[in-house]
Amino acid sequence: MSIEKPAALVTGGSRGIGAAIVQKLLARGIPVVILDREAPAEQTDARFVRCDLTDLAATKAALAEIAATNAILWLVNNAGIAAPASLEETTIEDFDKVVAINLRACILSAQAALPAMKAAGKGRIVTISSRAALGKELRTAYSATKAGVIGLTRTWALELAPHGITVNAIGPGPIETELFKSANPHNSPRTQAIIRGVPVQRLGQPEDIAHAADFFLSDGASFVTGQVLYVCGGMTVGV
Ligand code: NDP
Repeated sequence: MSIEKPAALVTGGSRGIGAAIVQKLLARGIPVVILDREAPAEQTDARFVRCDLTDLAATKAALAEIAATNAILWLVNNAGIAAPASLEETTIEDFDKVVAINLRACILSAQAALPAMKAAGKGRIVTISSRAALGKELRTAYSATKAGVIGLTRTWALELAPHGITVNAIGPGPIETELFKSANPHNSPRTQAIIRGVPVQRLGQPEDIAHAADFFLSDGASFVTGQVLYVCGGMTVGV
């Protein structure tokens, strides 16, 4: 563990919401490590570590190597898959895969970061949940894991508060990333219907989530912990 080299770790940081959060951290002069399956398509100053989070042994090894090289004082648990399926279509194999990426990886990453955060007496953990944590049709595994990360967030907030470590979650609404576009083609009737259901009448952009993450990750947010901020254009209001 190297306290001399503090850094942020962003899982799934190669594209989409994760990539926007990486840009925020780099803009603040914080060195960033991206853990993802594929390297970012665009040039970045972040260090890239290749890892498939469904592979338990590889994930533990990658996290141990990162923690041995850098003191992870900012952790963003962002990697996630949606795996749309009805209850009847949901196989246990698919469920286990979603749990491994959306939930298990959050625990492994936090465990890897914890020694450095405790030694430093400070740390920031942000986990990307989803509005679907409140319930969403055809998302058995997804909504279960996204509700699960809220449970982790609130529990860790209590456990880690005495160490100066804050833990917060963000619940995005529909954000125009590959994950969203793969299920909802641009300008399709389905996408238009989704937009009509968003009070602010637009899809979110990765930067909308990065702004919220930037706040939780900042020094100024030291009195904010165990919170879930829904960044969803008002979708959770009035229901
Ligand atoms: P993207 O699919 O654009 O990006 C997700 C990133 O996670 C990709 O780089 C992806 O890599 C990586 N990833 C996926 N599976 C693995 C794996 N097994 N091991 C390592 N990395 C992996 O999604 P978003 O940016 O939209 O999503 C980011 C987070 O935001 C997720 O947790 C998602 O659930 C959440 N969210 C997104 C919403 C949206 O509408 N977009 C709404 C609510 C929540 P690869 O390219 O290899 O798949």
